[in-house]
Amino acid sequence: MKWRDLLAGELRKEQVGERLALAGWAAKRRDHGGLVFIDLRDESGLAQLVINPERAPEAAKVAHEIRNEFVLRAVGEVAARAPEAVNPNLPTGEVELQVDELEIVSRSDPLPFQLDDENVDEATRLRYRYLDLRREKMQRNLRLSARVVAAIRRFMDAQGFVDVWTPNLTRATPEGARDFLAPVRLQPGNFFALPQSPQLFKQTLIVAGFGRYYQMAVCFRDEDLRADRQFEFRQLDLELAFPTREEVWDVLEGAVVSSFEALDRTPPERPFRRMTWHEAMARFGSDKPDLRFGLELHDLTAETRDSDFKVFAQAPSVQYLVVPQQFSRAELASLEELAKEWGGKGLAYLVFDEEGEVRSPIAKFLSAEVIEAVRPDEPAATVLFGADEPLTVARVLSAVRNHLGRELGLIDHSRDEFLWVTDFPLFEWDADGGRWTFSHHPFTGIRPGDEDLIESDPARALSQAYDLVWNGWELGSGSIRIHDPELQKRVFRVMDIDDEQAEERFGFLLEVLRMGAPPHGGFAMGLERFVALLAGESNIREVVAFPKTASGSEPMTGAPTPIAKDILAELGIQVLPQFES
Ligand code: ASP
Repeated sequence: MKWRDLLAGELRKEQVGERLALAGWAAKRRDHGGLVFIDLRDESGLAQLVINPERAPEAAKVAHEIRNEFVLRAVGEVAARAPEAVNPNLPTGEVELQVDELEIVSRSDPLPFQLDDENVDEATRLRYRYLDLRREKMQRNLRLSARVVAAIRRFMDAQGFVDVWTPNLTRATPEGARDFLAPVRLQPGNFFALPQSPQLFKQTLIVAGFGRYYQMAVCFRDEDLRADRQFEFRQLDLELAFPTREEVWDVLEGAVVSSFEALDRTPPERPFRRMTWHEAMARFGSDKPDLRFGLELHDLTAETRDSDFKVFAQAPSVQYLVVPQQFSRAELASLEELAKEWGGKGLAYLVFDEEGEVRSPIAKFLSAEVIEAVRPDEPAATVLFGADEPLTVARVLSAVRNHLGRELGLIDHSRDEFLWVTDFPLFEWDADGGRWTFSHHPFTGIRPGDEDLIESDPARALSQAYDLVWNGWELGSGSIRIHDPELQKRVFRVMDIDDEQAEERFGFLLEVLRMGAPPHGGFAMGLERFVALLAGESNIREVVAFPKTASGSEPMTGAPTPIAKDILAELGIQVLPQFES
């Protein structure tokens, strides 16, 4: 027996008069005293089944038993609907199946939620993910994801990239997160780390003679989960031999454009915009600025050096942004709250009214020159200030900027702004550890000409790292790498990794670099973030089949779970009493 002759969503006028079998889920049942209508759903869409007790008395009996999400098989004749019953919103809306035989193939327990209920909480959705995934939106998102991945693969293959699988049980790669560890039964006390990225393997593959490597790599990072972060995620990971940065960018732009085209969407224009990290920080306070609106930052540090307003005079950096609107006290108070959440001490302001008069508790401390310097071109505006360490000011004002961009409807949603942010600093100061650390990862190349700054002025040394940003979301990072082992060791030393430690932790890399390493560079783009943005979702969980909750659990399977003591003992592991459940 054939389960079905075609998919439910394929039913059309052309088949009127044919006898066909359909199979799928009961999406909805309507009893019209005698006649029963069932919307039958499968992955292609919906078809209407009509069960008429006069035509098919047995089927009518079965129909009364049917509940939502039962699995059915129906055999009947395709019929045109009466003109008043045509549903123009449904591709199958002109026809229905007049059922002769109806079979319940599989039943469903009472549902924990109805599939058309829009307000199911996320915990319930994830607990019953198999039901949640039956919904139209989730079907659409996962299919969109598959199309994007397929398009990228086609593109990468056509560009001569070789797909190479790299291990998931490996040695820790420093990408700035904690590692997930896997104990090894054959070597109790030893652990593999799950890769935070295949960074060192891909560099090794280039040295091994693969000029163009790529992979849809699964990466694992033990970090707090957020809307754009899961413990595990996929990257389009790639690396090239002898590349310029522009050549790497070109590949990525091609992959992005192919994805848009696969979804029949107008692709962004190439080449994408480019901006140095310094410019992005100065103008937007962020290394991932959303360029769909203005509200740029301005610097006022020099002008306020001798100010009577001590908060400004003493701050290492004073910056401001001009909002084309007079804020009330309540609005200013809530913006100040936001500033504090982002680590600011407060949020000084000047409100300019319609006449250009200034209203503000700090106005009397500011010189006429300073007030004139920030005076907006149009009256009825508010100037918001940040005064602190430069990176704190940037963080706070950029958060305020993004918030206002959304709240005041300044974002032009018809625009897609792709941006390469380039020339990141090579190092960051790690205040907790009291030392320099990498800002991208330790294998990032140095901007030509800045090599001597590595030791003499690490703060000023720029790197060959670049990020790709789309509408304020960081899609991924990459760089031209260090291919000279001596230079690599100098970078390690600045980060307090002496030669001995470097040998111990990265000996294999240094060895690889000593064995004829060509210049190389690459990139990794987070696929879930990219797909989420393409799907118009603000949370990557909406494009992941079985994501973890914010607390790091997977509610459907109940993972993670404790493991029996004897199994742990085999691995040489014992759980501390305070963690035993
Ligand atoms: N391994 C880096 C990352 O995962 C990407 C790269 O530098 O290619 O962010």
